[in-house]
Amino acid sequence: MSEMLLQTKGLTKQYGHQKAVDHVDVHIRKGAIYGFIGRNGAGKTTFLKMISGLAAATNGEIEMFGYKGKDLQKIRSRVGCLIESPGLYGNMDAYENLKIKCTLFGIKEKNYIEEILKTVGLSDVGNKKTKHYSLGMKQRLGIGLALVGEPDLLVLDEPINGLDPQGIAEVRDTIQKLRDERSMTIIISSHILEELSKIATDYGIIHKGMLLQELTREELMNRCSERIEVNLDQPEQAVPVLDSMGFTKYQVADKEHIYIFERLGESAQLNMELARAGIPVKGISITSEELETYFLNLTGGGLNA
Ligand code: ATP
Repeated sequence: MSEMLLQTKGLTKQYGHQKAVDHVDVHIRKGAIYGFIGRNGAGKTTFLKMISGLAAATNGEIEMFGYKGKDLQKIRSRVGCLIESPGLYGNMDAYENLKIKCTLFGIKEKNYIEEILKTVGLSDVGNKKTKHYSLGMKQRLGIGLALVGEPDLLVLDEPINGLDPQGIAEVRDTIQKLRDERSMTIIISSHILEELSKIATDYGIIHKGMLLQELTREELMNRCSERIEVNLDQPEQAVPVLDSMGFTKYQVADKEHIYIFERLGESAQLNMELARAGIPVKGISITSEELETYFLNLTGGGLNA
């Protein structure tokens, strides 16, 4: 198992009677791009603020880089964040905005700002004041500001929200580059699973303050890819039959289902073999699920659930 960079145990934030974050246990591997997915109001921002030290937890524990409790103060500078709006000085250009943050951090290295501008794709914008930037440019500068001090963990709250497809692609490329070139661990939240599906390596799905599921990209893709779905009472009983038929890409999905991800044309034959082995099949179908449908089903169907 790969090394964990961040784990929470029972992390909870209560506002009055409402638990905005309710006993959340996440497990974030070093080097992951962790997609934190939830609808509006699910508790994403609150959770990310606690991770970044911007809000105190009501209960529970955060362990980061092997530190927890009061010791977390020691590693705060290893976490960079962009939460809510980037907080730019509108009358200054990108360079000047970054310069202010570098001064605060005591960074004087030559070319430091130029490197960041290059990483976030803003090298060519010249002296344009940030108040004239597109939303995508502002977000990328916001990411650039979070990079000052070279954090090992980058926390980005809905950086894609409200961007047009071109802006989405640019932010996505920037994030991918950070992981590949600077080997950062990145947590990125969104209310649209599909938007993160091209880059995230792991996912946490939060709903009404609770973490419903954590899964890897591979697990998610398996759940959503085209498959034969067999519905039966005791799926384990079918395993020897699948083995004898030479199936290898299958998975017992739950107490009533087996998913098979290969030889989709052989469902009738499979049905027959199972019947021959005395295993009653309640249903057999070929399905695939859109990522977004998967997410909506998990979080209760209709848009307003
Ligand atoms: P969004 O994408 O809409 O920001 P979110 O998933 O980030 O949603 P949060 O902003 O974390 O969700 O909010 C979770 C819940 O906690 C919401 O019901 C919100 O109204 C409540 N909440 C958040 N901050 C506060 C606060 N400072 N005081 C009271 N309630 C709050």
